[in-house]
Amino acid sequence: MLESRNLSVFYGRHRAVENVSITVSASEIVVMLGANGAGKSTFLRAIAGQTPSQGGTVLMDGAEITHHPPHEIVEAGIATVPEDRGVFAELTVHENLTLGAHPRRARPHEAANLERVLTLFPRLAERRKQLVRTMSGGERQMVAVGRAMMSAPSILLLDEPSLGLSPLLCGELFRTLRRIKDTGVGIFLVEQNAKQSLAIADRGYLLDNGHIVGSDTAEALSKDEKVQTAYLGGG
Ligand code: ATP
Repeated sequence: MLESRNLSVFYGRHRAVENVSITVSASEIVVMLGANGAGKSTFLRAIAGQTPSQGGTVLMDGAEITHHPPHEIVEAGIATVPEDRGVFAELTVHENLTLGAHPRRARPHEAANLERVLTLFPRLAERRKQLVRTMSGGERQMVAVGRAMMSAPSILLLDEPSLGLSPLLCGELFRTLRRIKDTGVGIFLVEQNAKQSLAIADRGYLLDNGHIVGSDTAEALSKDEKVQTAYLGGG
């Protein structure tokens, strides 16, 4: 289980994230909804060790990982798909996936992990030799998720995976996240796309101005009037 307890991140005197506590267990999809600038990316990067936090703790399966460098957080079983996807445009699909297998925890299982990723994303199997530069936004997102899955994570973090995808492609990607969850991985995504993310999530948190202002089951949140007004385009 991934847990943050009262995590805070300041940029100078600006409080981007304050006292945020969340949990993500194995086999569950948890979404954090928030508007532009709410602090979602900052929070995700702080968990991944990519942005320093100034207060609180992050624990993975009970062990503290606060302030650990990003590669140690990956070794602890937490993989991230960043907002810019973090794929290498001039490399092939296969090369990008192989790079994801670099962490120590994944090296001995590279062949099995690759097999699993290509089963999750049959389109990547067809296009193994294609340069990522020549792929569509949706396909690049598949490469990004596939690369993260190559480190055999227990927890997968995704920063606005629906960004730039058509509703159709987004639906396809989110259905794949459901299949990943069914293999026992815990998934935490930060999103502005409330409708499609709540449809696949088990639970959700609402982030406003760096603070958690609500949390409930995804089903309850999708029926909540405040959520409908703020994130679902009206009641
Ligand atoms: P978006 O959906 O637009 O990506 P977000 O919810 O992910 O928004 P963040 O990117 O985490 O929000 O930003 C939260 C706040 O922190 C914003 O006010 C932003 O301007 C500020 N911020 C983010 N990164 C930095 C930085 N490196 N230095 C200073 N302020 C920053």
